[in-house]
Amino acid sequence: MPPRGTLAEAKDFAQRHGAWIAARLGRLPKAAPFQPGTVIPLRGTPHRIVHRAGTRGTVWTETRDSGERILCVAGGAEHADRRVHDFLKREARKDLQRSAEAYADELGVKVKRLSIRDQSSRWGSCTSAGSLSFSWRLILAPPFVLDYLAAHEVAHLVEMNHSARFWRVCGKVCPSMERAKKWLDTYGNDLHRYGVEE
Ligand SMILES: [Zn+2]
Repeated sequence: MPPRGTLAEAKDFAQRHGAWIAARLGRLPKAAPFQPGTVIPLRGTPHRIVHRAGTRGTVWTETRDSGERILCVAGGAEHADRRVHDFLKREARKDLQRSAEAYADELGVKVKRLSIRDQSSRWGSCTSAGSLSFSWRLILAPPFVLDYLAAHEVAHLVEMNHSARFWRVCGKVCPSMERAKKWLDTYGNDLHRYGVEE
């Protein structure tokens, strides 16, 4: 907004030049709703959502002869979004549970509860009572990124802060920590466009 400009003028400009502003802001990420045709990264590997009619409402993966990976969604097309969402949450829980338990064993601590969050801008969090929670979107990232988040939250059960000792504990059990942090800085934001209506 230029100096001395009014809010009404700015709004008018924004409405007339939306595309120009978007280009200036560096390409706003395009919403990628969970609908047939959308390609989503499952554990970092692109999978195209394909609707399979006539079967019961389940979700599974397949690899086509061409090598293309697909995420098949059966049942009514109007429920595809919810089914994909539920599937991803289940997969996220499975991977995070396995990963967090392995790190907890290694560090000699106990995970009391693990929950998968729906509406969260944070990748993970931890309470002193031993409850960990994670964003389901981590299942979209490569496995070493999900593993790092699991290690990070479990390491908080040893050190409830971000001190040098905390990072030593985390880095000891998770050698790919720095690589994962860099990945999240670069690509993490992109994961927020999946499952969003256009
Ligand atoms: Zn932390």
